[in-house]
Amino acid sequence: MAHGDYDGPDRPDKGKEGGSCNRTLCQCAPARWYNHGSYAWYCDDCRDQIYDAVGRLHWERDFPNAGHPMFETREMMNARGRR
Ligand SMILES: [Zn+2]
Repeated sequence: MAHGDYDGPDRPDKGKEGGSCNRTLCQCAPARWYNHGSYAWYCDDCRDQIYDAVGRLHWERDFPNAGHPMFETREMMNARGRR
């Protein structure tokens, strides 16, 4: 499934780590990408759609000092924290 394929009620684990994607019209699992902009978790497909070339430009322009990408997996955040 991808964004736009889902038209049901919000799942209890929507936007949670390892749960259902935070996009209301998607809610695919597993949501393994954390969005530092919305503080919620997204599936692989939505991460790619939101964080495309334009999304990357916006992130770099709006958060030049973030020091990390807009979307990260738990593994990426853990690796960053150890530095
Ligand atoms: Zn999704």
